Amino acid sequence: MYRNRTCGELRIADVNKEVTLSGWVHKIRKMGGMTFIDLRDRYGVTQLSFNQEVNHDLCEQANKLAREYVIQVTGKVAERSSKNQNIPTGDVEIAATAITVLNAAQTPPFTIETETDGGDDLRMKYRYLDLRRNIVRKNLELRHKIAFETRKYLDERNFLEVETPVLIGSTPEGARDFIVPSRMNQGEFYALPQSPQLFKQLLMVSGFDRYFQIVKCFRDEDLRADRQPEFTQIDCEMSFVGQEDILNMFEGLTKHLFKTQKGIDLSDFPRMSYADAMKYYGSDKPDIRFDMKFVELKDLTQGRDFAVFDSSEYVGAICAQGCAVYTRKQLDELTDFVKRPQIGAKGLIYVRYNEDGTLKSSVDKFFSEDDLKLWAERCNAKPGDLLLVLSGETEKAQKQLSELRLEMGARLGLRDKNNYKCLWVVDFPLLEKDEELNRFFAKHHPFTSPKPEDISLLDSAPEVVRANAYDLVINGVEVGGGSIRIHDSALQKKIFSVLGFTEERAQEQFGFLMNAFKYGAPPHGGIAFGLDRLVSLFAGLDSIRDCIAFPKNNSGRDMMIDAPSKIEQEQLDELGIALNLKEIK
Ligand code: ASP
Repeated sequence: MYRNRTCGELRIADVNKEVTLSGWVHKIRKMGGMTFIDLRDRYGVTQLSFNQEVNHDLCEQANKLAREYVIQVTGKVAERSSKNQNIPTGDVEIAATAITVLNAAQTPPFTIETETDGGDDLRMKYRYLDLRRNIVRKNLELRHKIAFETRKYLDERNFLEVETPVLIGSTPEGARDFIVPSRMNQGEFYALPQSPQLFKQLLMVSGFDRYFQIVKCFRDEDLRADRQPEFTQIDCEMSFVGQEDILNMFEGLTKHLFKTQKGIDLSDFPRMSYADAMKYYGSDKPDIRFDMKFVELKDLTQGRDFAVFDSSEYVGAICAQGCAVYTRKQLDELTDFVKRPQIGAKGLIYVRYNEDGTLKSSVDKFFSEDDLKLWAERCNAKPGDLLLVLSGETEKAQKQLSELRLEMGARLGLRDKNNYKCLWVVDFPLLEKDEELNRFFAKHHPFTSPKPEDISLLDSAPEVVRANAYDLVINGVEVGGGSIRIHDSALQKKIFSVLGFTEERAQEQFGFLMNAFKYGAPPHGGIAFGLDRLVSLFAGLDSIRDCIAFPKNNSGRDMMIDAPSKIEQEQLDELGIALNLKEIK
C-alpha cells in the first residue's frame, strides 16, 4: 500500500490518526532541530514534520531529500502550532515516523510554484513538470469538468456520441489540410479532418437524429494565441430542426456550463444580425460587455475642404465617456496604436467635448465648433467625453475602429474577465467574394443553407444572400458556430455551381454527400463549439495553450517531443515519396 490518504484531505478532525501519504517533495525548511517538508500530490499539499530530538536518524534522512523526490511517509496527524490559513490542510501536519524514497529526482529546471515559471520555452520543453504546477493542472481539471458536463447535458437530451474517422480525404474548401501519405496506396493521400462536418451530416441521413462528438480537428493555419494546429470541438448535429431549435438547445448547454462551473445564472442571450454587428462594432464577434457603438458621421463631415474625409467612403466615431481629459501623450499613444501595421490606420482624429461645453478637435482648421457639436450630438456625447474618429474604405475603417474600441474598452476597465456576456450573431452572408480571384467562397461552409427567402437572389445578387448560419460569441470570442444545412441535392448542386465548382469536380469531391441526399435526407443543422476557447474563457486565460495538456508552440512545434521531425529515407521510400533529404538539409 503506497498511501491511505491524499495530500489534500487531512483536517483538524483527523488529529491523532495514523496515515500514510505518497507524493513529491515540494519544499524543505530546516528550523533549529526541526525539518519541515511540504508534500505535494494532485490533491494538495500537506506538511510533514521531523524532530531531531524525537528521531534523529529519521530527521537526517529527511534532510537528505531534495525537491521533487517521490516519497512515501507514515506518521500521526497533529495540530500545527503555526497554522497556514492559505491551504485547506493548513491546520495539521504529519509527525513522521517513517519515510521511504520511492524515487530520487534531479533538480528540476524551474521550481514547481504557482506564481513563477521558467519562461515559455522551458515550460513547453518540460511540460510534464509544468503540469505539476497547481495553476496549470487546475485548467485541465476544469476542461475535464466542462467536457463531462457537456456529455451529461447532451446524453440527457438523447444525443449519441459517435466517432468519425481521422483519416479522410482532402477537400479544397476552408483552411489548409494536414496530409498523411498512404503506404498501401502510393501517390495517394489522406487528410486529417478540419471538422467531422460531412460525417455528421451523413449520420443524419442515417437517422441518428442527434449526434455529438468531442473531437480533435486539424487545420494547417498560421497560429495565434487562440489557435492550435490541432484543437478540440464539441461537434453537434440534429435532425428535424430549424435555427431556433439549435440556438435554444445550445444556449441551454452554455447556460448549464456556466451554472455548473461558475455558479452563474445567465439570462437569455441577445441576438444580433451580422449586418448590425459590422455596422455598430465592425466585427462579427462583438464584445458586448460595453457599449461604445460606432456612429457614422460621413454626411456631417462633407464639403469642409478636409480631403481625408471628403475622399473617404466611411467616417465613423466612437465616444469614450469621460476621456476628454486625455492628455496629448495619451492621444498620441492611441494614434500610434491605430497606426501599428497590424491595424493600419493612417491617423486618428479626436474631438474633446470639454466639461465647460467647448469642443476642441485635431481638425479645428476645417470644422467649426458648430460642426463638432453636431457630431457630438449624433454620438450622444456629454461634456467630458472624447470622440475618436477614423475614416477610409468602409470595411477597413470599421475594422480599425473595432480594434480601437476594444483598446478603449480595455483602458476604461470595461472588459472584466469575470463579467460574461453571450451573444448570438445570426444572418451571416452565405458567400464571401475573393476580389483577387473574382470568385465566391462559402462564408461558413458549402453545406450551409441560404435563407429560403433569399434563394431567388442566388443568381442576380449572390453577395446579399443571407444564410441560416449563426455564431455564439462570448466576450468578443467566437466560441461556436454552425448552420442549418442544405438537405436537398438540387439546391446543394446549385450552391456548388455558384461556388464555381464544375459538376465533375463537385461530384468528385462531394459526390457521396449529394448521392446520400438522394436517399431521403432529413432537414438538419448543427453547431460546433471550440472546447479550448470555451475552457480558456472560463479559466480567464489569455491563450488557449494553457488549457491543453501538450500544446504546440507558435511555429506548430511540440517542443517536448520535438515534432515535427525528419524521417528515415527508408520510410519515405516505403511511402513512395520521392524527397531528397540531403537537399532539404
Ligand atoms: N463544422 C463547422 C465548423 O467546424 C461547424 C458546423 O457547421 O457545425 O466550423
